[in-house]
Amino acid sequence: MHDRPEHPATANQPIWRIAVAAPLHKGFDYHAPRQFFTPPTPGIRVLVPFGRRSTVGILLETRDQSAVDARKLKPVSQVIDETPVLTPDLLTLGRWAADYYHHPAGEVLHHMLPTLLRRGEPAARQTENLWRLTPAGMDFDAELAQRAPKQQALLKLLQQHAAGLTSEALNQRMSQWRAPMQALLKKQLVHQETIYFSAHSVREPRASFQHSPDLNNDQRLAVQAIGCSLDGFKRWLLEGVTGSGKTEVYLHVIEQVLAMGRQALVLVPEIGLTPQLLQRFEERLPVPIAVMHSDLGDRERLNAWLAARGNEARVIIGTRSAVFTPLAKPGIIIVDEEHDHSFKQQEGWRYHARDLAVVRAQQLDIPVVLGSATPSLESLHNCLQARYQRLHLPARTGQAQLPRIGVVDARRIPLDQPVSSALLQRVREHLEAGNQALIFLNRRGYAPVYICHDCGWHAECRRCDAHLTVHRASNRLRCHHCGSERPLDTACPSCNGASLLIVGLGTEQMEDFFSGQFPGYEIVRIDRDTTRRKGSLERSLQKAQSGQARILIGTQMLAKGHHFPQVTCVGILGIDQALFSADFRSTEYMAQLVTQVSGRAGRAERPGEVLIESHQPQHPLLQLLITRGYREFADAALEERQAAGLPPYTRMVLVRAEAPTAGKALQFLSSLRAHLQSRIGPPVALLGPAPAPMERRAGRYRAQLLLQSDQARALHNALDCITLVTEQLPERRSVRWSIDVDPVEMF
Ligand code: ADP
Ligand code: ZN
Ligand code: ZN
Repeated sequence: MHDRPEHPATANQPIWRIAVAAPLHKGFDYHAPRQFFTPPTPGIRVLVPFGRRSTVGILLETRDQSAVDARKLKPVSQVIDETPVLTPDLLTLGRWAADYYHHPAGEVLHHMLPTLLRRGEPAARQTENLWRLTPAGMDFDAELAQRAPKQQALLKLLQQHAAGLTSEALNQRMSQWRAPMQALLKKQLVHQETIYFSAHSVREPRASFQHSPDLNNDQRLAVQAIGCSLDGFKRWLLEGVTGSGKTEVYLHVIEQVLAMGRQALVLVPEIGLTPQLLQRFEERLPVPIAVMHSDLGDRERLNAWLAARGNEARVIIGTRSAVFTPLAKPGIIIVDEEHDHSFKQQEGWRYHARDLAVVRAQQLDIPVVLGSATPSLESLHNCLQARYQRLHLPARTGQAQLPRIGVVDARRIPLDQPVSSALLQRVREHLEAGNQALIFLNRRGYAPVYICHDCGWHAECRRCDAHLTVHRASNRLRCHHCGSERPLDTACPSCNGASLLIVGLGTEQMEDFFSGQFPGYEIVRIDRDTTRRKGSLERSLQKAQSGQARILIGTQMLAKGHHFPQVTCVGILGIDQALFSADFRSTEYMAQLVTQVSGRAGRAERPGEVLIESHQPQHPLLQLLITRGYREFADAALEERQAAGLPPYTRMVLVRAEAPTAGKALQFLSSLRAHLQSRIGPPVALLGPAPAPMERRAGRYRAQLLLQSDQARALHNALDCITLVTEQLPERRSVRWSIDVDPVEMF
C-alpha cells in the first residue's frame, strides 16, 4: 500500500496525519494549519476539509513526508483542542484495537469519544448563570419596593434562596424574571456569577455513609490478594457464587485504590438494571462518582467524561463504552458480570469491552478484576492457562444458602396448560408462606406464533425470516428482529377461515395466567415491553424488592444482579431451545442464565427452591449443571469445546455480508473465499460461505464466511489479506460487509 514515492514536506509546512471517521483503513495527510506555532500534541481534534465538507479529525502524528505530493495537500482548517481529547494511553488503545479488530482507525478513534466531542464541541464543562443577593440585597426590606411589584416578587424569592438560583430554577418559579433581574443588578442588590452546570451524571458524595460489614474469610483473602498487587498489571478472575459478596470485595479494593489517590473504573452490563449497585457505591464511597451509560443525554455524558479526565470523579461506573473513559489517575479496572454478552458491541465496530479492559489495564500497568458467578468459558480457560489468577468465593454470606434445584419433565404437562401442576403447587406454597415467587421466561409478548388451524398459515414478518409475536395488550403482531408490526388478523389471510390459534408462551400470557391462578396477589412483569417508559423499570424493581409484588414475571432483565430478599421460589421455563440450538455457545448461555436466575432465590435467611421445566430433563449438561453446579458444568463444556476444536481453544472471525437482493451477499463471500484460498495456508480454516441462520432480516439478505484457527498470528494475517483482496472485488459495491473478530453471536 505504501509503495508510492514519498514526498518530503517543505521546511515551513510540516505534515499532519489525521484520523477521519471514514471506512478507510488509513490516516489522511494535511498541511499544518497556517498559523500554528506550538508543537502539536497527538490526540487533539482539528477541523479538516474532507471531500466537499468539513469534518472533525484527530491528529495522529506529525511527519516530514507524505505519500501524496505535498503540493496537493490541503491545510488543516482549524485546531479545536489545546489538550488532547485522546490521551496517549487511549490513542495507544485505539490503534491497538483498530489493528486487532481490523476496523478503520478513524472510526475506532471517533467511536471512543462522547458524541458531542465527535461533533467538534469544546471539551469544556458546561457552565450556567447563578443569581444571588448581595449583602445589601439580603438586608433590603422588600416591602419598600411596592411600586415595582415584579422586582419585589423576585427579591422575596431570592431572599428565600440564599444560595442563589440558576436560570432554570428561576424559570420554574417565575415568569418574565429577566427584566426585573436587570433592574436589581443595576441597583447592586443582586450579583451574577458563572458556575459549573450541575450534572446528574456526576454524583457528589453524600453527607453520611454506611459502614461495611466484616468481611468473611474468603472475601478477606480476595481483598488482600488484589490489594497486594495494586502497583502493576495483573489479571484477576473473581469467581463467586451469587450472593457471595463480590460487590463487597470491589468496594474494599476501591477504598484502597482511592487511598492511594487513584481512580477506579467499574464496567457493568446495564446500569438501568442495577440501580442497587450504584446506590451501594454511593452509600459507601465518600467521593464523587461519575456514571456513564447510554440513557444519558449527550451533555450529561460529556460532563461525566470531563469529570473523569479532570480527576474530579474518582470512581467511574459505566456500561460497555465507558471502557474508553479518560482517567487522570488510573488505579484499577473492574468488570462486573464479565460473562455478560452486552459487553460485546454487536454492530459497527464489534469490540468486546471486557477484552479491551484487560488490554487497557496492561497498557496502563494497573490491575484488572473480572467478576462473575458464572465466568465465561474464555475467562476460565485463561485461568487454566495461568494468564488469569483465580479468586474464589464459594459460599453465600451470612445465613443464606444456595437454592435447591429440580427439573420437571415438561413432556407430562397437558398441552392446554402453560406450566406444570408441580410448579403451580410450589408457587402456591411459597406465596402462602408469605414469600415471593419469580417466573423466568426469556420471551416477551403473548405468544410467539399465530397460526391458522384450518390451513396451517402462520404470521410471518414481511422483512425477516421470522415469526411475528402476538402482543395482546395492543392487539398487534410484532417482529422482534426488525420492529415492524401490524394489527392482529381477524380472519386467515390465506383461507379466510376464522380458526386462528395462538401457540407458544410469552411473558404477557404468563402474567394473564398467573393472575387468573392467584387472584389477590400482586404481579409485576419486567421485560422490554413493560419498561419502555422512563422510570417504569425503577418502579417495577422497587415493587419487586420491597415485597409489594408477590409474583415476579420476566425475561433476562430479571436475571441480572438483583437482590430480591423475599424470593424463595423460582420457576424457569422455555430453556429447551438452548439445548437444541445450532450456536455452540447456547448451552453456556443457558447455564449462565439458569444459574443467575436461580441465584435470585433464597438470598436472605429464607431458603430457596428452583424448578426448571424441560422436555429434555435427562440432558447430560443440564443434569451436570443442577446436580454439580456451574463450575463442573463449565469444565465439561470446556472439554467438549476442546474436542470439537471450538473457542476458546481456537479463534474465530466471522465475515458478514448483506444485500437488499437475494444471492448477492453469498456471491461476494464466494469470490472472497476463492481469492483467499490461494493466499492463506492450512493453519486457517475457511468455513462457508453460507446463508446466515436467519437469512433475511429487516429486508436484507445475509450470509457469512467463518475463519477459524488455533494460531492467532495466522488468523490476523488472513484478515489483512481480506482487507486487501476486498478492495479489488467488484462485488463489494453491491453489499455491506463487516469483520467480527471473536464473534459472540453467530447470527
Ligand atoms: P454478589 O455481588 O456476589 O452477588 P453482594 O456483594 O451483593 O454479592 O452481597 C450479597 C449480600 O450480602 C448483600 O446484601 C451484602 O450487603 C451482603 N454481604 C456481603 N458481604 C457480607 C459480609 N461479609 N457480611 C455480611 N453481609 C455481607
Ligand atoms: Zn387459513
Ligand atoms: Zn422483521
